[in-house]
Amino acid sequence: GYRKGGYHAVRHGDQFAAGRYVAQRKLGWGNFSTVWLAFDVQSQRYVALKIQKSAPEFAQAALHEIEFLSEITKRDPSNCKCIIQLIDHFKHAGPNGQHICLVFELLGDSLLKLVQYNRYKGIGLDRVRQICRSILVGLDYLHNELGIIHSDLKLENVLLVSTIDPSKDPIRSGLKPNLERPEGNPNGEAGLNAIEKKLKMRARRVLAKLAEKRKSAVESSRSERSLDGIDLTCKIVDFGNACWADKQFTDFIQTRQYRAPEIILGAGYSFSVDMWSFACIAFELATGEMLFTPKEGHGYSEDEDHLALMMELLGKMPKKIATMGTRPKEYFDRHGDLKRIRRLKLSSIERVLVDKYKISESDAREFASFLCPLLDFAPEKRPTALDCLKHPWLRYNEDKTCGPLNNNDAKNIDLAQSTGSITSGDCTNI
Ligand code: ATP
Ligand code: MG
Ligand code: MG
Repeated sequence: GYRKGGYHAVRHGDQFAAGRYVAQRKLGWGNFSTVWLAFDVQSQRYVALKIQKSAPEFAQAALHEIEFLSEITKRDPSNCKCIIQLIDHFKHAGPNGQHICLVFELLGDSLLKLVQYNRYKGIGLDRVRQICRSILVGLDYLHNELGIIHSDLKLENVLLVSTIDPSKDPIRSGLKPNLERPEGNPNGEAGLNAIEKKLKMRARRVLAKLAEKRKSAVESSRSERSLDGIDLTCKIVDFGNACWADKQFTDFIQTRQYRAPEIILGAGYSFSVDMWSFACIAFELATGEMLFTPKEGHGYSEDEDHLALMMELLGKMPKKIATMGTRPKEYFDRHGDLKRIRRLKLSSIERVLVDKYKISESDAREFASFLCPLLDFAPEKRPTALDCLKHPWLRYNEDKTCGPLNNNDAKNIDLAQSTGSITSGDCTNI
């Protein structure tokens, strides 16, 4: 990665945009970039600095992401639509080439980390509801107001809004903005004699042990306190694969486990692909495990296994759908049955929630009534984000001060009021 055309190597204290941003430590990375915590000297706050790889295809992708994020940010000046806000962008020249940099508001951990902190056991249905509301507010904004399909929704691409100040967080201690470059050359060992070298190595081993201890202490304290300072609103990030509904760039989208059936069948797509992925996310938050994890097997492909898993859980694919698109003839016979996977173990979302994940019958029934319509094989039948925001399962316990809503209350609340209250509620949290 750290070569010509690749990542830009950063050390803490490095300056960007003529000294406006000072790098502090690495927050994360992806296939396209490294992302750094940086201090914005101008506004005196922390930001996330995404430094793209420099080769032309990565620069192109960054410009693409900037196009979408600029529109998203411009149309949401109050920053309450649960989508990451772009603050700034610029170019940075380094030894590996010219890197496009994007500056974002600083967010917290991804939903994947949240699930990991809870040891893959699920995070509890009340938290799932709360996170689902945020994602849906974001999706409704993207789909209805902007005409944008995210097309890569998954746990890693939704980040919690953290209210922890990085300079005060004990886990991130030592992070008073450090605006100096570290002194000395870390590789300047040349003049050391043998004894010095030995001593140094021993010291290193001791330090490594200490670091190990500290790391495990931090990890265990994290899993307990991972929800402190987090109001569980979250924001959708990573618009590197987004497209306009009326101007699509490719037929092949989404990360495997979150991929909608129409993509596998090559049957075209619209906003409802995001709704499918959203359902996969909601299930994974509740159970700690992915809804679909297809694998290639003897005599069948990963795609065929994926379709089989869907049919085991959601029922047989309607013939009309099983013949749509460019690829069904590879997979289905003329009766609409899979050619190469003949025996399916039929189940249902509700049964799986109860039997495998030990969720109570009534919770499972209500949660399944929310999930199943989103997992309709017919894309046009899936509820929209706005429809979902009105669903009784989501509205349950929405306002803790008023106590739980019963189903009739929920039905009586009209559409304008329901979206209004959810949106303004989220705004006050940010
Ligand atoms: P991908 O390979 O998934 O396309 P990418 O190179 O486009 O990745 P992002 O997904 O945008 O990069 O970011 C990489 C990681 O950096 C994220 O998963 C997250 O951990 C961290 N990150 C990104 N943006 C922020 C932010 N605003 N605040 C805090 N952390 C962030
Ligand atoms: Mg990503
Ligand atoms: Mg990306």
